[in-house]
Amino acid sequence: MLYHSLKNKKKLVSFEDAVLRGLSPDGGLYVPKYIPKLESQFIHNISNYDIYTIAMTIIKPYIGKSISEEFLYEIIHDTLNFPFPLKKIHDNIHVLELFHGPTLAFKDVGAQFMAGCLSFFSKKKERTVTVLVATSGDTGGAVAKGFHKKPGIEVIILYPHNGISSLQEEQITCLGDNIFSVEINGNFDDCQKIVKKSFLDKEIKEKYILTSANSINIARWLSQMFYYFLSYKQIKISNNLKKLIFSVPSGNFGNVCAGIMAEKMGLPINLFIASTNINDTIPRFLKSEKYHPLPVKKTISNAMDISDPSNFSRIWHLYKKNIFQLKEKLLSYKFTDEETIEAINMVWEKYKYMLDPHGAIGYLGIRKFFQKTKNNSSSAPIAVFLETAHPIKFINKIPFSLRKEILFPKKLKTFSNLAEKKEKIFLSNKFKIFKSWLLERK
Ligand SMILES: *Cc1c(COP(=O)(O)O)cnc(C)c1O
Repeated sequence: MLYHSLKNKKKLVSFEDAVLRGLSPDGGLYVPKYIPKLESQFIHNISNYDIYTIAMTIIKPYIGKSISEEFLYEIIHDTLNFPFPLKKIHDNIHVLELFHGPTLAFKDVGAQFMAGCLSFFSKKKERTVTVLVATSGDTGGAVAKGFHKKPGIEVIILYPHNGISSLQEEQITCLGDNIFSVEINGNFDDCQKIVKKSFLDKEIKEKYILTSANSINIARWLSQMFYYFLSYKQIKISNNLKKLIFSVPSGNFGNVCAGIMAEKMGLPINLFIASTNINDTIPRFLKSEKYHPLPVKKTISNAMDISDPSNFSRIWHLYKKNIFQLKEKLLSYKFTDEETIEAINMVWEKYKYMLDPHGAIGYLGIRKFFQKTKNNSSSAPIAVFLETAHPIKFINKIPFSLRKEILFPKKLKTFSNLAEKKEKIFLSNKFKIFKSWLLERK
């Protein structure tokens, strides 16, 4: 498979180049040249296959000969090393839990898959490959854990001072070895700017083979298709399948865009709901057809505090910039913090299920859809929302009275044991300062 930038269809690159570059040098996101279609028999018989075979079948056409089949199977094995349970909340509403990975958020899937691909490619390089990444919270932990002790790779994570939760900071700073964390005296945008400038800097590029691990990397994006297929397998076993809809709590729109890819490959999903917080550029776009990002507003679902979602350009491309076709497959609703809290409280009171603020927005998307379409439960579609993080990760955003109900996952204990504090690097938000630190450390 070859890939092109969304800014230039003519220049094609391999899977390896697209993964190593992250973003195309012209600033566009990479997309595959075409979307491979799966055989309908495969979908029909999906219950007969194990999860590794399913993942292998989905991803192989995107990788071609870039990675040997044997090694790819190994990567998949290491990526899908935790469960993806689908649970019924009430009526036709189900939750797909994506938080059973090492850092308790769905980003573990993409990060682990990308780490596997990169360690394969770095073997051919003479120098260490340096992953430079800015995080607003969950990406940092997932990338740190996914790349920890991978030979030939080091990771430098920039995170904003006072901008992430203490659990998130612990996940980024506790590992050591080839993982380096840099606390920046600024906000997420400052971190992001330093990363972007580093990629363009000549002196840095002479000393480092740099790559990024943020969510626009195709290795992260495409591997997120896995759990849409795995949940379909579970639905197919337990339900007399009618229509199927997914509600995805969305920030940078990578997760929902992976679902759309899965559908384009042949997975029978009737509708997507991209549910957002009040950073509602896309809900407004689908109404007014005007793309007009506003300044970012802080919310309790802070992993989705993004107003100019990078991956929307991929979605727009997949629908050939046709708003009518897009609207047939994608709805987008926004919800306030008050509504989010109300949903967390209600779902706990009535169904004894604990949502995190992001999952709560996913749940609200489905509820709103059902209210609008007045589906009675016998003909209503099967609806699945993605629970993207464990509530413990956002415990200080959960209503006080419920906090004692949140169970401490076993995994987290092992994480805390590791957390003898490593030495911290703390820098100002000036690029010059970061650059001299980077050049001097090697
Ligand atoms: C990153 C993240 C999201 C948003 O996912 P996108 O792919 O950026 O839309 C939602 N929930 C949580 C918990 C996240 O960490």
